[in-house]
Amino acid sequence: MLALLASQDEDGNPVAISVHGGYPADVHFSLKDLGDMSSRFPKKQEENAANRRVFFDQVALNIRNQVRLTPQHQSSVKQVWSKHGAGAEVACDAIFTTNRSLVLTILAADAPPIVVTDHRSSFLFLINGSIWSADRGIVGKAVRRARSEFSVDPTQLEVMLGPGICRLCYVSDIHKKSGEGFRNIESWTPYITESPKGNHINLKGFIVDRLVEEGIPEGQIHDLNLCTWHGEVVSGSGHSFFSSLRSSRTGEEEGRFAFAATLTRRAVPLP
Ligand SMILES: [Zn+2]
Repeated sequence: MLALLASQDEDGNPVAISVHGGYPADVHFSLKDLGDMSSRFPKKQEENAANRRVFFDQVALNIRNQVRLTPQHQSSVKQVWSKHGAGAEVACDAIFTTNRSLVLTILAADAPPIVVTDHRSSFLFLINGSIWSADRGIVGKAVRRARSEFSVDPTQLEVMLGPGICRLCYVSDIHKKSGEGFRNIESWTPYITESPKGNHINLKGFIVDRLVEEGIPEGQIHDLNLCTWHGEVVSGSGHSFFSSLRSSRTGEEEGRFAFAATLTRRAVPLP
């Protein structure tokens, strides 16, 4: 059973979360109260870079070891090594490593970051779970890469779905986007339901089904069940995450939270 442990600011407010409870990689993410982590808004570059440093301090990770995935919303998968350290950015939609020092990071809003490792924490993938990348097959591509690269059976894989927009909150007219590059709108039909609000898209359901299709047992797919639009890590505390969709509807300022994963250094059983 996964448990979320919060680190607090000076006033005792939760500002960052570390996932505990037996997942074989270490996963951490920032909450909205720690500020916008995005690197895409030119006016806030310095402030947001400072926010990212505070996040790394909060979760006791070395920011100099981070390699950041910058989403392209396509489906390329790239291996990263220590030479990519020192804050490197890698333009693709899935990165993986066997290096225990590297911290794989993504600055996210509604697309759930996806972590894939094996029982022994011997390699680590971080995947951008955006609807466009999901549509282009990023999930299957990354899992098949893990199998070919590390000769691992899918039943040995452990997956975590980070905070991402839930199907109740994800209201968008996907049909209008079919002309803008959706591979096959029919593959989304089972994941779209209509309500008076519009078309609800079950993005996480789509991702989970692709993982299961690749042979990963459902019991080894751990969804943190945190929605970036409505989620509150402490009940009554207000929105815990930045959400592009919420910003687009409410006019509140847009931002990104930081999500970081690293191979565990805890003792693991020998093969
Ligand atoms: Zn929601």
